[in-house]
Amino acid sequence: MPIKTKPLQIKSLKNMTLKNSSFKIVDDWIKNVKQVKSPYYNDRPTSEPISLLVIHNISLPPNQYGGPYVEQLFTGKLDPNEHAYFADIYQLQVSSHLFIRRNGEIIQFVPFNKRAWHAGKSKFEGKENCNDFSIGIELEGCDTDDFTEVQYQQLANLTILLQQTYPIKNITGHSDIAPDRKTDPGPCFDWNYYQALLTQQTQINAMVNQINLIKEELENLTLWQPSPPAAEAFLSEQPFALDTMQPHEWLQWIFIPRMQALIDAKAELPKFALHPYFEEAFKQQDIDANYLLTLIKQLDDLSVN
Ligand SMILES: [Zn+2]
Repeated sequence: MPIKTKPLQIKSLKNMTLKNSSFKIVDDWIKNVKQVKSPYYNDRPTSEPISLLVIHNISLPPNQYGGPYVEQLFTGKLDPNEHAYFADIYQLQVSSHLFIRRNGEIIQFVPFNKRAWHAGKSKFEGKENCNDFSIGIELEGCDTDDFTEVQYQQLANLTILLQQTYPIKNITGHSDIAPDRKTDPGPCFDWNYYQALLTQQTQINAMVNQINLIKEELENLTLWQPSPPAAEAFLSEQPFALDTMQPHEWLQWIFIPRMQALIDAKAELPKFALHPYFEEAFKQQDIDANYLLTLIKQLDDLSVN
């Protein structure tokens, strides 16, 4: 039964700092994850940008987790005698770029610039052969079990990394591009939760990026200090510690460390409006704070989006 999932429209994120992920792509391979090279890939058609992410589920034998069989299938090493089901599939030449296990382990089989064989006969927005222009991600799972929290976290981290590296415009499910043949990732895949994680991570990345710009501008203005104010200054109970610190000191020593702590703790980020205070405060100082104020205003806007 085909599953109706709405393909997501996600803007690509360029030049953002990825804060909560240690993943990095070098030459179309993710560093620091397990690599198992599959023989099942070939060249993408020339001049076909990678614009689509396709989410799948797979488990071998069906509904059983943790075994080596998905890796064996994707590398042509599945033993047809090991399970009745395998006799039907061991000769399939299939692969995906990525596989995310129930425990969050990530395995890459095919470099992203090459065409993995995951989608089969398929069509997205009128365009056939989705393998030509997509990256395939398999989640270890099936149509009747919930996916694990760590799988969603890893999927969201990988999605953002891939969006930063390739011109991905859409994310879809296998069942959406091959509705007559495929049901995965299935009704247990929570598209709303996945979207929420992407939105949250995107906001965090944008905030981190903006805070880094503010730090750079404070350095340009020679307002970034090598050592903190006296300990008593931190005891202020006034907003912006305005009785004990200069505005820029509050940014450096109170605001930025607090934001960093919240981001590290994956806590919900507060909404704030810093610009009105700083606009007034900088008027009384002999500094060219126009650009800094613009950056602060943009940070305010990110916090309420
Ligand atoms: Zn699939």
